[in-house]
Amino acid sequence: MKKKEEEKKRRQGRIARELGRIAGLDRYVRPEKVRGAIKLDSNENFALDSSFIAEVAALAAGAVDLREYPLDEFDALSRQLALYTGIPEKYIGIGSGSDQVIELLLTTIAGSGRRACAFVPTFSYFINRCELHGIRVDKVPLDKNFELDPKAFVKRAARSDVVYLCSPNNPTGGQLARKDALYMIDELESDDRLVLVDEAYADFAGYSLAKEATRRRNVIVLRTLSKAFGLAGARVGYMVANEEVAGAFNSTIQSPYPISTLSLAIAARVLERSERVKKTIEAVREERRRVFGSLSGFGSGIKAYRSDANFLFIEAGARNYGPIVRELARSGIVVKLMGDSVAGHRGCMRVTIGTREMNDAFLSCIERAVAGVAR
Ligand code: PMP
Repeated sequence: MKKKEEEKKRRQGRIARELGRIAGLDRYVRPEKVRGAIKLDSNENFALDSSFIAEVAALAAGAVDLREYPLDEFDALSRQLALYTGIPEKYIGIGSGSDQVIELLLTTIAGSGRRACAFVPTFSYFINRCELHGIRVDKVPLDKNFELDPKAFVKRAARSDVVYLCSPNNPTGGQLARKDALYMIDELESDDRLVLVDEAYADFAGYSLAKEATRRRNVIVLRTLSKAFGLAGARVGYMVANEEVAGAFNSTIQSPYPISTLSLAIAARVLERSERVKKTIEAVREERRRVFGSLSGFGSGIKAYRSDANFLFIEAGARNYGPIVRELARSGIVVKLMGDSVAGHRGCMRVTIGTREMNDAFLSCIERAVAGVAR
């Protein structure tokens, strides 16, 4: 039997073998869309009115000519990103979501057949893409409170060609202490290594390292308009790096027309109205404090972890998890259910901070489920 299998493998062509390898890999599975549900599973920003985005989108649609390739719109978005970040355009690269920026970096300057290092749990897309491209990932576990020992991490990461620091981290929510993050990039920046700092959620947090990246060797900060700016559907992300890296990205690594004219035009106009967005960021932070406080008050073994992002990581515990999952389903609330998949933690979920009403619906659900367990 074994011989037959081996013979079959030997006769297979290279493509079939590669497809076989790929079929065995973990992959990001798109969440199912549940019509009419309260959607708290993907860290989008529902505190931003849908009518605000729709009006800006209509304005943009009226102003562009889709018969043309996007030219001016790319430059206009670069200008708006420079204004928003306070960082000159020559340090900024734009992509079709930060997903695509990560993909491009991994397939070009990171090099395949190399080694990456990341702490875990973290944004699984990064790990999956490394594995797809034959980059081995050294996974350094966070401690039980999801804290990182920066010295120990630096030691492990020093052997890697790519280092990934997700801060604030998805799914746990915490941002690295600024001094720890700076210590790690000080130690790890190198002519031979790419240091990726994924700041998809930094707009909700206390600081950003984007300015630092402009004057460092091969440190790249990844940002996105999918979260705070409410544009997950437009697919616009960006990176900040030194002039050489950003220049290579813009001139050669990025494809000529990676984002639709419409998405570029919408993104530029939403950035022009960033004051409005900032108000919703403040509202989300406020709600994050409130939901965290309420969850911590429930007792019954429900633990919410400190977050600097627009979501909370919750450990419900083995007894509460099943009843909570059923109550959420009954109430039409969708969160990212993680069960026992995070080592050392039982009954886990990640929940987006939405509008006050959405958050209240979620909190009542937890309250009902916990009361049922206690009865
Ligand atoms: N980085 C992190 C940490 C994320 O959570 C996400 C979105 N899930 C992304 C990057 C990708 O964002 P986008 O491609 O929408 O810009």
